[in-house]
Amino acid sequence: MSISHDDLVVVTGAGGFIGGHLVAHLLEEGHRRVRAVDRKPVAAWHQHFPEAESRVLDLRLLDDCRRAARGARFLYNLAADMGGTGFIETHKADCMLSVLINTHLLLAAREAGCERFFFASSACVYAADRQQEAHAAALRESDAYPAMAEDGYGWEKLFGERMCRHFQEDYGLATRVARYHNVYGELGTWEGGREKAPAAICRKVAEARLGGRREIEVWGDGQQTRSFLYVSDCIQGTRAILDGEIGTPLNLGSDERVTVDELVTIVEEIAGVALARRYRPDAPQGVRGRSSDNTTIRRELGWTPAVPLREGLERTYRWVYDQLVGRSEGRRAFVA
Ligand code: NAD
Repeated sequence: MSISHDDLVVVTGAGGFIGGHLVAHLLEEGHRRVRAVDRKPVAAWHQHFPEAESRVLDLRLLDDCRRAARGARFLYNLAADMGGTGFIETHKADCMLSVLINTHLLLAAREAGCERFFFASSACVYAADRQQEAHAAALRESDAYPAMAEDGYGWEKLFGERMCRHFQEDYGLATRVARYHNVYGELGTWEGGREKAPAAICRKVAEARLGGRREIEVWGDGQQTRSFLYVSDCIQGTRAILDGEIGTPLNLGSDERVTVDELVTIVEEIAGVALARRYRPDAPQGVRGRSSDNTTIRRELGWTPAVPLREGLERTYRWVYDQLVGRSEGRRAFVA
């Protein structure tokens, strides 16, 4: 596929975590026309670039999707109402309403004559019965069917995938789909209820360190497993999927599986603290065991994650720690 740096590339969800990193990467690659779209006011975006065209639009609305997609050659849809387990288990209707975003964006992209459309799907599409054991086999793309997705959020993503498939088959709009598995890193949500496990654990450990506390609350019994993908690997993989010729959903995750307890231990080591763990078996914890089988994407696109978990967590912890320190210094300056 021939790509010119003057082609218009649209990124939705650009005020969010992964969308912000994607815009940064596209600009670094030399793209001169990047349109960044999000619902939040620009001041609330995690990253904002004056070189990109920033638009505040509500993509649940078809007309706003038309404004977003106008003139686009490539469109990356990363907009969704979502968060970590604590959010998706308690906001199922909100999660499912993101179906409006992807559906209207597909219609608008088709009308605009867009050449390629990317959809950020999720490991939450995978059938629950494949994830009941902490050491269940890593998930292959075919494990999404027979469907038994995560209630709410997972079903919305699975439906979004099917819409992409049929827009491709019936209307000839080339669609590309990644199933992201737990993406983490700096410049994302780290507090407020939508944050995911790595950011939440970094924050809790940093708060304990700064406040001299000796305890940390861990959701579940700590033995549930996940794999975590550092954001720069996610961006490289996303670009490879859009540029590549695989029109079916692909896993984009790490195969470095850890228990939540192991994740806490790594962050404690980075922070130089050891905390007593208070387990909360009643808290939302998602499936028992999940990790990504990357056989297909490695074989077809040559993509494999480059950043080991400890290294990514070091960067993330440092960033979260700095946010907390910056905030308490700001408060002190205000009081003085
Ligand atoms: P995020 O919440 O940081 O970013 C999503 C952005 O979408 C937010 O800035 C939000 O304001 C925007 N948005 C929501 N509703 C909108 C609307 N109606 N119109 C315009 N913008 C709207 O999330 P993220 O972690 O950056 O995730 C990006 C995408 O990747 C999402 O589709 C998400 O479901 C998917 N995903 C993420 C992960 C992960 O681990 N972060 C895992 C699987 C899938």
